[in-house]
Amino acid sequence: MAVPLLSLTEQNQAQIEAYRAAFERVMGSCQFIMGGEVTAFEQACTKELEVKHAIGVSSGTDALLLALMALGFGPGDEIICPAFTFFATGGSIARTGASAVFADVDPVTFNLDPLDVERRISRRTRAIMPVHLYGQAADMDAIKAIAEKHKLFVIEDAAQAFGARYKGKRVGSISDFGCFSFFPSKNLGGFGDAGLLTTNDDELAHQARILRMHGMEPKYFHQLIGGNFRIDALQAALLNVKLPEHEGFHAARAKNAAYYNEQFAKAGLGKVAGEAGADKLPLLLPSAAEGNTHIWNQYTLRVKNRAAVGSTAPEGSCTRDALRAHLQGRGIGCEVYYPVPLHRQECFAHLAPVDLPVSELLATEALSIPVFPELTRAQQDEVVAAIADFFAQE
Ligand SMILES: *Cc1c(COP(=O)(O)O)cnc(C)c1O
Repeated sequence: MAVPLLSLTEQNQAQIEAYRAAFERVMGSCQFIMGGEVTAFEQACTKELEVKHAIGVSSGTDALLLALMALGFGPGDEIICPAFTFFATGGSIARTGASAVFADVDPVTFNLDPLDVERRISRRTRAIMPVHLYGQAADMDAIKAIAEKHKLFVIEDAAQAFGARYKGKRVGSISDFGCFSFFPSKNLGGFGDAGLLTTNDDELAHQARILRMHGMEPKYFHQLIGGNFRIDALQAALLNVKLPEHEGFHAARAKNAAYYNEQFAKAGLGKVAGEAGADKLPLLLPSAAEGNTHIWNQYTLRVKNRAAVGSTAPEGSCTRDALRAHLQGRGIGCEVYYPVPLHRQECFAHLAPVDLPVSELLATEALSIPVFPELTRAQQDEVVAAIADFFAQE
């Protein structure tokens, strides 16, 4: 049985009539830019995310860019972000003319390592941009303590973590800005590109709203140079249908993640970090750090390189890549998020070389397998069996 990495069919079919009605409503109104659907979506998001301001934007990438623009960053400024993340995190920094300074991540949570952040602070550092990768929060207390000590802003890249909590608080509400994405593969997936910017600061919210519309205030008068970063009314209308369901999606993903962890442990293939004997098994299973409500945008294994688990496979061979090929051969969807850390990307080759050993290791070990809410137990059993077969052949 083939198992897709992600299927949106069931989720979208379940509400198909409500989506059709939303589409008809927007078509009927001819209000395609801003308007009531956008306002309603933004208000609903402030409630869901427990934050004062929510600003609908064109994508998660544009949410990041808009946050950086609202804070006025540019040439000469340095912003620290993890090297192990999706490209948009570092790309948005570079697009403002500021310099992205890459820091290393934690080998268990995959999130920004606060100790390494502190090492990379210079007198040009202006902000820290943690990413809540795969759906769980970075170590925000430690990051905010560093930011306070050095008078830095904090911008959360929460693109993969809409609805996740850190010590009871929604991510995106615990720093200067939160940036979210409704790319279709995110937990709250839209029907195209869309994003959201959140903040509790009235002044920053005002600035971001103006910059979202070409820096225009009042109409056709521009003191600032902004862009077109608006969310489509149609996206907002469709997301208004899906938003009330988000907690249910996360809960279903969490159940699927717990089942995988149980089954991989039972099969003797892996344990979570800190459990006795975890070092000796071929897989390190993902887990939520203390204080985190993980929303499992991805369920990401660490497939340890053979040398690390005492195999006789040749030095330098990548077990993860072999397992990926095996799963693909069996029709099981899986993906490597991400194979090249940002400091190794060609477009950043001109930056000073940096030593980021954990990011480099994770780029060779991370493998995400299907965890979407509608995944069935039978499909999960199939995935586990295919992985067990791979290690039995070794
Ligand atoms: C998806 C994602 C983004 C970008 O979001 P888009 O809506 O695709 O522009 C940024 N950062 C991270 C970590 C992401 O996963």
